[in-house]
Amino acid sequence: MDANSASPPDPPGPQDLISPGILKETLNREGFRLTVQRQKILALFEANANRHHLSAEEIHQYLGKQGEKISVSTVYRALHVMVKLGLLQELELAEGRKYYELKSPIWEQHHHLVCVQCGDVQEFEDDAITEVTAQETRNRGFSLLDGQFTVYGICPRCQGRMEG
Ligand SMILES: [Zn+2]
Ligand SMILES: [Zn+2]
Repeated sequence: MDANSASPPDPPGPQDLISPGILKETLNREGFRLTVQRQKILALFEANANRHHLSAEEIHQYLGKQGEKISVSTVYRALHVMVKLGLLQELELAEGRKYYELKSPIWEQHHHLVCVQCGDVQEFEDDAITEVTAQETRNRGFSLLDGQFTVYGICPRCQGRMEG
């Protein structure tokens, strides 16, 4: 086997793009009943256009505002099912704070800037990081699975507070 003849990654296909129809299809195929509550959870992520993470508590609050009677533990269970199916990914950005977001394809991956004081999370994209990640992975003979980058710092608001 020639390590240098590795074929390039498949180009993005329609099956890789997450749409409500595909989410439903995947859940049905995997034998998980897409309950109204799970549909509503997915709708929250889709409303955020692939670029937003939510905590289980936030999801619980949003659903409550929509008049949905659902317990936090049901939200957690639904999230875990969707993580297992590869629809969502779990991010532990700050200690003890878990977020969930729609799993995006590697070529569309974004990175996170996290404030260690207040836990604020901001997202950014950078082609240079994506390129270096792909290059290093290739050079070392790895196949790329995930390449998200997390940067920790103190946000301007918290810096202002520290200065008094
Ligand atoms: Zn994110
Ligand atoms: Zn902060």
